[in-house]
Amino acid sequence: TTLLDLKNVSKQYGHDTVALSDVNFSVNEGEFVSVIGPSGAGKSTLLRCINRMIDASSGEIIFDDVNVMSLNKKNLRRLRTKIGMIFQHYNLVNRLSVIENVLHGRLGYKSTLTGMLGIYSEEEKKHALKILSILGLDEQVYKRCDQLSGGQKQRVGIARALIQEPKLLLCDEPIASLDPKASMVIMDHLRNISSSMGITVLINLHQVDVALKYSDRIIGVSGGKIVYNGSPKHITENE
Ligand code: ADP
Ligand code: ADP
Repeated sequence: TTLLDLKNVSKQYGHDTVALSDVNFSVNEGEFVSVIGPSGAGKSTLLRCINRMIDASSGEIIFDDVNVMSLNKKNLRRLRTKIGMIFQHYNLVNRLSVIENVLHGRLGYKSTLTGMLGIYSEEEKKHALKILSILGLDEQVYKRCDQLSGGQKQRVGIARALIQEPKLLLCDEPIASLDPKASMVIMDHLRNISSSMGITVLINLHQVDVALKYSDRIIGVSGGKIVYNGSPKHITENE
């Protein structure tokens, strides 16, 4: 079944930057789809339109049978609990501990930062510890995020997204700041999460080789337009 459907989506910044132009594609439940393309192609804009971090200029975005573009504030919050977002630069709160960053994800976009573990229930903490354990972060639970390596920080980012039990994970260049070894660890985790938890993954990558290795399907973007949509097997050098 279709989880996400984009119809004629366009996005313009200001008067003359067309970042997305008539984008059409859909993603099925459980699929692992990579969006590839050069810098400036519109990949980041595309992901941000889907969870309404920014507003598309025109078109239709249907997620989980809901028209994303017409949601009010309250329903937008509900949408964002179903869509986890992972960023290139992690977007963690460095002065807080790993587990606090993860639990903060549970409260969503509404909360203020307290930095107090006491406000969370034992059940919430147990849930966070379980997710951190899956991601191999047992030793890091009470460390401050600024003491972690890049790869560890990104695993915290994944844990923070997972705690809200999303249907869809949007990953915006999650390995662009990591060395090859840490990158593979992150990609393996994302792939495992996708298959074991049935979470749909839409991931921006500029490394074509990584996208080909991990994806069920590749969407190629260039100049704000979709230039490829298909199996990783059929991509050739000049596409
Ligand atoms: P990618 O993620 O593929 O690198 P982006 O979506 O970041 O591409 O950018 C697509 C185009 O939109 C680029 O030309 C970029 O300069 C422009 N752009 C991105 N964000 C903004 C913004 N906030 N304001 C104006 N132009 C932007
Ligand atoms: P990254 O792709 O690593 O997230 P960028 O340097 O592409 O970082 O963009 C950083 C921020 O600047 C983003 O919020 C993006 O939307 C914005 N941005 C990108 N290009 C432009 C632009 N041409 N004009 C204004 N803002 C931009």
